[in-house]
Amino acid sequence: QLVDALIGAHTPMMQQYLALKAGYPETLLFYRMGDFYEVFWQDAEKAARLLDITLTQRGQSGGQPVVMAGVPFHALENYLARLIKMGESVAIAEQVGEVGASKGPVERKVVRVVTPGTLTDTELLSDKSESLLLAVHQAPRARCGLAWLSVTQGRVFLAECAQDELGAWLARVAPSELIYSAGVTERFEQQLQLLRQGGAFTCPMSPRSDWQFDSALGARKLLEHLGAASLQAWGAQDLGEAHAAAAALLQYTEHTQGRQLTHVHSVQVQRGDDLIDLPASTRRNLELVKTLRGDDAPTLFSLLDTCMTGMGSRLLKTWLLEPRRDRTGARQRLSATTALRGAGGAGGGSGPWATLRAELKGVSDVERITARIALRQVRPRELVGLCKTLQKAELLALNGQAPEPYLAQIFGHLRPPEGCTTLLHRAIAQEPAALVRDGGVIASGFDAELDELRAIQTNCDAFLLDLETREKARTGIPNLRVQFNKVHGFYIEVTGSHLDKVPEDYRRRQTLKNAERFITPELKTFEDKALSANERALSREKWLYEQVLDQLQPHIPQLTRLAHALATLDVLCTLAERSLTLNWCAPQFVHEPCIEIEAGRHPVVEARLAETSSGAFIANHTRLNANTRMQIITGPNMGGKSTYMRQVALIALLASMGSHVPAASCRLGPIDAIHTRIGAADDLANAQSTFMLEMVEAAQILHAATPHSLVLMDEIGRGTSTFDGLALASGIATHLHDKTRAFTLFATHYFELTELPAKARHAVNMHVAAAEAGTDIVFLHELQPGPASRSYGIQVAKLAGVPAPVLHHARHALAALEERAGEGELQADLFATPEMPESAGASPVEAALAGINPDALTPREALDALYQLKKLS
Ligand code: ADP
Repeated sequence: QLVDALIGAHTPMMQQYLALKAGYPETLLFYRMGDFYEVFWQDAEKAARLLDITLTQRGQSGGQPVVMAGVPFHALENYLARLIKMGESVAIAEQVGEVGASKGPVERKVVRVVTPGTLTDTELLSDKSESLLLAVHQAPRARCGLAWLSVTQGRVFLAECAQDELGAWLARVAPSELIYSAGVTERFEQQLQLLRQGGAFTCPMSPRSDWQFDSALGARKLLEHLGAASLQAWGAQDLGEAHAAAAALLQYTEHTQGRQLTHVHSVQVQRGDDLIDLPASTRRNLELVKTLRGDDAPTLFSLLDTCMTGMGSRLLKTWLLEPRRDRTGARQRLSATTALRGAGGAGGGSGPWATLRAELKGVSDVERITARIALRQVRPRELVGLCKTLQKAELLALNGQAPEPYLAQIFGHLRPPEGCTTLLHRAIAQEPAALVRDGGVIASGFDAELDELRAIQTNCDAFLLDLETREKARTGIPNLRVQFNKVHGFYIEVTGSHLDKVPEDYRRRQTLKNAERFITPELKTFEDKALSANERALSREKWLYEQVLDQLQPHIPQLTRLAHALATLDVLCTLAERSLTLNWCAPQFVHEPCIEIEAGRHPVVEARLAETSSGAFIANHTRLNANTRMQIITGPNMGGKSTYMRQVALIALLASMGSHVPAASCRLGPIDAIHTRIGAADDLANAQSTFMLEMVEAAQILHAATPHSLVLMDEIGRGTSTFDGLALASGIATHLHDKTRAFTLFATHYFELTELPAKARHAVNMHVAAAEAGTDIVFLHELQPGPASRSYGIQVAKLAGVPAPVLHHARHALAALEERAGEGELQADLFATPEMPESAGASPVEAALAGINPDALTPREALDALYQLKKLS
């Protein structure tokens, strides 16, 4: 009542605004006023801050000044995109009533809510990634139900997990927005907060009322979408907690779209043990889709993704990030890719893949267009694109008789729904306006009534010419003109000098400086007819467009399947092309546990070397099997240890997704997870100390890894004192060897660890070879059996540009340390000043060089420095 009283004191417009806003208290409300979307009060302040737009005040309402900010309607997408990027949601209230139809403000309604996880606007979505909304339900016994979907994919995913596995799931799903059940324990919210701080996910999250997480409702909604009586066929019948999450997920999405999701026809259950586990740290360390610095390239994905379509790129990303433990799918993809490569040799620009790709170029994003048809948001030009793509798909389906079974199945799915192409072709103009409300969208010949209305407009020109001739004759005014403008409608213009000849029946419409404009009864009648024809044609077009959308609805399942087939074909062609261009081989899947690679390469490093012409990549073999489960890898920094370890993981991952791999040959046993513990600079950004984080990650690996896991440990124990670090590293290595028994690549600078293989049966020593040339070092990047003979730290420091006197000091200290170690003494005097040799090692050029810090120089200064050096030499 109090609220009512307060609202009551406002102007009618503000009353309407506040009533709408009450339904969206947490969301920015964009309120349409003519050519602007306005935001008021707190929303205005927030929008002004986020978008850097001007705050203004206009009049008063309810005794307060109305603070507002606005964005022009035609720039809406741009502002939305920025807000969504910042994790904000926006409710959009449009004018839905007729202007002037009733007293007070035009009727307005919130027509949709744009949120980061439920985007469908082509302009707001990234071509190459999905926007996913994830609902998490906290269930009893520390369980969680999960349900997620991409509105544009129209597929719901369900999963259940223990609460302590939630982080891994969040990292894997990588949602754009998360909703969770609110009323449960506060601890749950805290857990989510912690997971977000820890980097498991990054998106905005918001609580929803508990009653929305209703298991029975969820199951019912899923059945409705599937048009089925039981969830059994999808293996989804016993997932009550996930059903609860699905209920909230679907309600929230319907709420944001302002309508039913008629295109959601498929449900997929994901179980933790279906997929190869790729924890967040692994995705990060292996630079699968983002570099360690957070860039999009160069990554494994950026190297792989030469897809012709956004659908293909998105599917490729899913294959890469969600490889399955079961290898049936990967085998299928490999066999199809092999068929697509054709008989042609490596690197050639021909083969079945090339022909297909030429066809796939420029096809529309059928997946997203289909979703937008279902949501009735589709734009006319998208339908034209769809029509062309369907024609192409039909040809592909007809011509693509493939003997390879998987390809044959894909080509089968490319057949467009009966009558769909014809309907689109007949209904939509070849070059329609961007929006239906602009008219000119429905093709001529589709609807007799529309054609008739349009004919009136076309005949308009002829009528006006005719009228002009007749009036000229009647009045004897030679320069009389009949014209039209938007503001004044039709008129007859007579210049000042002829005004005396104007007949009786001319009525004045407008006076200009040198002329007068008139209307006649005949012209007025015509005007009414023409204007109403125009209006009627527009509304007829809108109605017809809706009819077309109605007729398309039943085709949605088949269109979705077609979209998936196009995407799959695109990815398979891409994998074929990549494997040929980059000279990759088909891996072989075997049952016995092993990772055996002949001449493996790190695809991204190799590509970078090729790009910068910095020499060839040195291939290395890997032999991990029942006998050898662990490699202790030593060798100088920069020697290639990390590259080697990562390449093994990348090859295992590529094989598991069904791709060819950068190697001469590869045999791969079952893999259930790839774990990595690699010291990364970006750890520093976290509040936790680097060492703490290192230990947390190591602990997670020790708990989670199994004999079928691949574990990469790079320089574990580096973050603490030497003895601590060494002690921990040896403890971890021993545990991985004796207990976990995972396939482990263990790179270390603790030379002492090379003694482990003497005691541990399944461990071997490997080292990256380096050659010495005087005081310099040459990295051979070649992996060889046995421990490294030395660590070459000082040589590496020299390469890095450490000043000569420091190197000299270090050499001296090292010699002292080695000597004392030999004598069994613990401490050497590290800070004794060494004698300087005669030459002090540094020529004037070297000294000058040592004093240069390239990072601190402007290009200009760098050039000057170069001239200086030149002078010294
Ligand atoms: P480490 O881990 O031993 O310090 P990295 O693996 O980081 O060494 O390798 C350092 C650099 O050496 C890489 O950035 C790459 O340019 C080059 N490199 C590594 N391995 C190879 C290889 N097999 N062939 C050619 N260059 C390599």
